[in-house]
Amino acid sequence: MDWRDFLNKIDLKSFNLEELKKLMVEIGEKSFRGQQIFNWIHQKNVESFQDITVLSKELRDKLENKYKITNLKIFKRFDSKIDNTKKYLFLLEDGNIIESVMMEYKHGVSVCLSTQVGCKMGCTFCASTKDGLIRNLTTGEILDQVYKIQKDLNIKVSNIVLMGSGEPLDNYENVLKFLRIINHKHGQNIGYRHITLSTCGIVPNIYKLADEKLPITLSISLHATNDNERKKVMPITYKYSISEVIKACKYYIEKVNRRVTFEYTLIKGVNDTKENAKKLANLLKGMLCHVNLIPLNPIKEVDYRSSNKKSVKNFKRELENRGIKATIRREMGRDINAACGQLRRKYMESKKD
Ligand code: SF4
Repeated sequence: MDWRDFLNKIDLKSFNLEELKKLMVEIGEKSFRGQQIFNWIHQKNVESFQDITVLSKELRDKLENKYKITNLKIFKRFDSKIDNTKKYLFLLEDGNIIESVMMEYKHGVSVCLSTQVGCKMGCTFCASTKDGLIRNLTTGEILDQVYKIQKDLNIKVSNIVLMGSGEPLDNYENVLKFLRIINHKHGQNIGYRHITLSTCGIVPNIYKLADEKLPITLSISLHATNDNERKKVMPITYKYSISEVIKACKYYIEKVNRRVTFEYTLIKGVNDTKENAKKLANLLKGMLCHVNLIPLNPIKEVDYRSSNKKSVKNFKRELENRGIKATIRREMGRDINAACGQLRRKYMESKKD
């Protein structure tokens, strides 16, 4: 079969249960077939219709003519020798490359997923955005990062963070569908409380997500304490100010009753002073929240350096003295370029040579 025919087929991994049932009725089958297909794709993680042995051969062939089950290919895997972090480069069916990371913690296995190929948000510390947004990932492509990592390592993923390449709230519909399917009891059944969505602060979509009332953790990449500072590192601030983001977070907390996490990457000499810590504490005063301090994982595209251990500790102490809970995120996979977008970019550059 020509690969273009395959690309043109409709991906059933991106269909939710109701859509699959409806589709079955539309093609003259019983609706319970939709339930079976959902189970086999999302629980048993089959990679082709021919593997769904509970369906007749006739139906499997019929499906194969018009539909597909999207499959990512492991293009490369990088294993950290420091902490067992594994980083994947996945090849998509159209030749694009995305990356995902698997991290082992005491409380389970966590995966960090991409939601877009590239990103248009332009954060200056991030390698994912250097070539802009190429395209949104489909729901099936976001899900398959989990399925392929589980299969490759023979593990069960317990926690998900949407913090890889791309801005999840810029791919809102596909991401929302992903959340519902990954949580589904006939799928992987991963609890919403074990899922974190990280955003640079697309304010209208924070309100939309809050109204969905899914008890996931919302994580805001804040990284600065006033708009002028933040504009320098996160251009989204030209569109939505910090106070608008904070207001939307308060609405989220009210609706979902979950604490919001604020990510604050410490960049040496840019945002890591005692004064910055004080301002951050004032900004978040009284909110049900938590601050994640991230020592910068340097990328070669920009000339930022990581804060030293002492300033990171001082920053944390300053926040805690002012009643704001904070943790310092352990650096994972430093030896395998685990910072967002670095590996994909390295690969794309090597292709140009
Ligand atoms: S940090 Fe996130 S939102 Fe910002 S450019 Fe990178 S991927 Fe996009």
